[in-house]
Amino acid sequence: MAHYDLFVIGGGSGGVACARSSAALGAKVGLAEGERLGGTCVNRGCVPKKFLMYASLAAEDLCNAVSLGWTCRDATLDWAELRDGVQAELRRLNGIYDGLLEKFNVRVYQDAARFLDARTLQVGNEQITADRIMIATGGSPFVPDFPGKEHVIVSDDVFLLEELPRSMAIVGGGYIAQEFASIFHGLGVKITRVVRSARLLRGFDADLAEHLLAEQVKKGITIRCATNVDRVEKKADGLRVICEECDSRIFDQVLFATGRKPNTAGLGLAEIGVALNDAGAIEVDERMQTSVDNIYAIGDVTDRMNLTPVAINEGRVFSANHFGGEERTMDYSNIPTAIFSQPPLGTVGLTEAQARERFDRVVIFKTVFRPMKYALGRVDEKTLMKLVVDGDSDRVLGVHMVGPDAGEILQGFAVALKAGATKTDFDRTVGIHPSSAEEFVTMREPFTE
Ligand code: NDP
Repeated sequence: MAHYDLFVIGGGSGGVACARSSAALGAKVGLAEGERLGGTCVNRGCVPKKFLMYASLAAEDLCNAVSLGWTCRDATLDWAELRDGVQAELRRLNGIYDGLLEKFNVRVYQDAARFLDARTLQVGNEQITADRIMIATGGSPFVPDFPGKEHVIVSDDVFLLEELPRSMAIVGGGYIAQEFASIFHGLGVKITRVVRSARLLRGFDADLAEHLLAEQVKKGITIRCATNVDRVEKKADGLRVICEECDSRIFDQVLFATGRKPNTAGLGLAEIGVALNDAGAIEVDERMQTSVDNIYAIGDVTDRMNLTPVAINEGRVFSANHFGGEERTMDYSNIPTAIFSQPPLGTVGLTEAQARERFDRVVIFKTVFRPMKYALGRVDEKTLMKLVVDGDSDRVLGVHMVGPDAGEILQGFAVALKAGATKTDFDRTVGIHPSSAEEFVTMREPFTE
């Protein structure tokens, strides 16, 4: 029976990072993954989504190019070409992941794993033992129960659609719904969004959510807030979506993006006493340890901050502690994130509401303007930038943006926040001209209602 210093269950971003960094520090590591390496991010999430986003953005860029003197006639989208090109690139990335693990002598088992006891796993036909076991099995789309649930698709399915639909209803008001509404709208699909809350993007700064909603409406996306899908019926001409308090309509596809659930089924966790919380996620302490001594968990299966770079960093912190002789904990403050919608949103630090709860004197700096990229022409889009500052210490608590390149711009500002930058530091920084990003260092007057 093979024995490992560390056995990782799940070959997604977190699991692979953890396996690789532990092996690099000298541990003997095995990893079980029943599907292709790379997990949600590479195979059904961040990576293919970003390619579709580029394709979608190209439509807007073509439109903008006309106002910059270009003649753009007869541009059409070949969905099959795009879809198959993306899948080919994903297979290339799967190969890179294989190679990375091979390079560090991590043995990969292409099978699901199940606990027999706290140190023994059944992996396919083999049994293995390990001193430490890391669970990094990620999450899967969650669809609530309603009549006709079997007719709807989830984010996993959109990358393999046979045909580009003419119309799509997208249910949910979070990251995934936001991104796919923009992506498919840009690709020419008529989009209607159904959101159960009165506002989009709960947890994000309210100004950003409102701004993004207004921009998406301007672009022609229909958004129905404060309503729920009652049922979905299959008809000869498509899927009829019947909502509470709005007209029923027919769509080619109905996409549910109503959150994700941790993948814990089939691992045998209850039998060995690994505790789950009420949401079904594995409970861990600040060192990623579960309720069982030698069993750990990272990433979406713990449902803390479900972002690829967070899972990767959790995996690396674990490796450093267990095989590098360090004493580290993961710092979850000031983690930047982006929503790759059109326009995109980037954010780091506290929202205005969070800051007002924690600090006595909060000062807001805010600007809304037409980005230079679109100044000559046809794309009617506004950028929003906002700084949240502690008026007493002068520390910048939050940096937020909706506008072109928001995700790229915010990464650098995340470093500034991590380093404890003050508004005076921002003011002393010379801008890059002409750019949108320079607005963050040239806002002088506090915003007043
Ligand atoms: P989110 O948690 O972001 O949003 C879920 C949405 O679905 C919310 O609007 C929620 O409404 C709504 N919802 C939940 N249950 C129901 C229901 N029964 N009926 C109707 N609406 C419902 O989940 P996503 O699926 O969009 O994304 C999952 C996670 O994946 C994100 O949290 C994020 O961490 C990660 N992700 C990150 C991306 C990035 O970094 N760019 C991209 C995509 C995903 P309410 O607000 O009222 O609860």
